[in-house]
Amino acid sequence: MATLQGQPVLILREGTERTRGKDAQTLNIMAAKVIAEAVRSTLGPRGMDKMLVDSLGDVVITNDGVTILKEMDVEHPAAKMIIEVAKTQEDEVGDGTTTAVVLAGEFLKKAEELLEQDIHSAIISSGYRLASEKAMEILNELAIPVSKDDDEMLKKIAMTAMTGKGAEVALDKLAEIAVRAVKSVAEEVNGEVEVDAEYIKIEKRQGGSIDETELIDGVVLDKEVVHPSMPKKVKDAKILLINSALEVKETETDAKIRITDPEMLQKFIEQEEKMLKDMVDKIVNAGANVVICQKGIDDLAQYYLAKAGVLAVRRVKKSDIEKLSKATGAKVLTELRDVKPEDLGAAELVEERKIGDEKMVFITGCKNPKAVTILIRGGTEHVVEEIARGIEDAIRVVECALEDGKVLAGGGAPEIDVSLKLKEWAPTLGGREQLAVEAFAKAMEIIPKTLAENAGLDPIDVLVELKSAHEKGNKYAGVNVETGKVEDMKENGVVEPLRVKTQAIASATEVAVMILRIDDVIAAKELSKEKDKGEGMEGMGDMGGMGGMGMM
Ligand code: ADP
Ligand code: MG
Repeated sequence: MATLQGQPVLILREGTERTRGKDAQTLNIMAAKVIAEAVRSTLGPRGMDKMLVDSLGDVVITNDGVTILKEMDVEHPAAKMIIEVAKTQEDEVGDGTTTAVVLAGEFLKKAEELLEQDIHSAIISSGYRLASEKAMEILNELAIPVSKDDDEMLKKIAMTAMTGKGAEVALDKLAEIAVRAVKSVAEEVNGEVEVDAEYIKIEKRQGGSIDETELIDGVVLDKEVVHPSMPKKVKDAKILLINSALEVKETETDAKIRITDPEMLQKFIEQEEKMLKDMVDKIVNAGANVVICQKGIDDLAQYYLAKAGVLAVRRVKKSDIEKLSKATGAKVLTELRDVKPEDLGAAELVEERKIGDEKMVFITGCKNPKAVTILIRGGTEHVVEEIARGIEDAIRVVECALEDGKVLAGGGAPEIDVSLKLKEWAPTLGGREQLAVEAFAKAMEIIPKTLAENAGLDPIDVLVELKSAHEKGNKYAGVNVETGKVEDMKENGVVEPLRVKTQAIASATEVAVMILRIDDVIAAKELSKEKDKGEGMEGMGDMGGMGGMGMM
């Protein structure tokens, strides 16, 4: 405690929770390791699933690292930092989240061993940073170029990202859909491929089987045609998009109208009717035969529209209206003051179809072929959701591979390669940082080790075999979890974008270093209600339990 002229000076309020020095480090590392441990069993195609249950009893079953981490209710600040890594990985590349978290946990575990040998965290941090940079070089050299026309390779990338995510029965088809979807929204700008994945819409429909999942050239709306006597199919559609309600606006001021006799009431109603009729006339006169509205459509307006043979859909999501605008070239009107023919968009066909038990509206043959929708089918909600996550991952990896033109063989091959080369490189550094680089190199083995463990193989045997294969120059040698053998993963078609690995290593390093640098955890004002700061690993205990859930 600080003293001034013999008087103790209180800097922090009495009773403030605080852990310092080694204790703070140990606890932070422990929290990070717990998180990594919780997702470790899901890594790879033979990884287990987690069942996440919230306080209301809602259930999510998934194998997807980031989904698990997002749903976990975590208190500890270091644990939260680890979860941030997964989110960053998800935002940047969309795959490799489990890898990033598992690596971060292992980097910290190895750092802990060094701390015990009295190696200062600053040395470990700088060694880790050096190792991470070197790893980027090694991976870049190892990467295999992929051309944007190499559909076979792109499909393999999609398949690798989806294996283990419940998509096995239709893996081939789903991968093809993902590749076609990404390619249809890819553009070449100054010789570089740019993918605008926002054009890819994912719609989920429960019922039917996974292999009924299809790619639609156009936009699919999870809505039905609003009035039964409207046409269910319009060819050569002229589409009006509007983001306000098709109804007579209520008066802005709180005016009260006193109706004194029935005739006046009649007039009032007639007036409203006329306004609605005028609205519909404007639409029809501009040449529209399809109306898609973000808000509601008045019953009477529906009736007039139906009479004029217009197909209308209401309460369509804003994001869908925007997609439709891009796809069909329609302007999004905010009111119906005057509708001009050039405000309308075009599509070859707008049609209501029955999918499963419900109806959906398909807008196909759009002016801009860049808009596509993947309509995901599956027996239950859980299946549909997990397939959707798999397809989303696949889209992102194909996007990365197209943009960067570089892939790596998977199955732990790149990690072993990096590990061996770092070990070779470490002695050239000298000093204590060498130890940190060696620890980093050793930590990289956690990926093939975990893949092997999750597939029920002996991790030690697999590691020994992997190393010897790589030493013989088989740089793509990885563990094939299906056969249990060490094989050439490039030939096996297990391939991932380079960016998935570089990002995973970079962000795992960053978070490990960040956590290592913390030597003081002080409960701040806002946080002071969090009761279990220092010793309170109660939340952590729960998560240890989550780890066990994989075995259910
Ligand atoms: P992440 O969230 O890190 O993407 P995954 O559960 O998707 O975690 O597992 C990715 C790991 O699984 C990668 O290391 C990848 O190379 C490996 N992998 C994928 N398919 C296979 C396979 N068929 N055989 C061996 N390893 C595979
Ligand atoms: Mg993955």
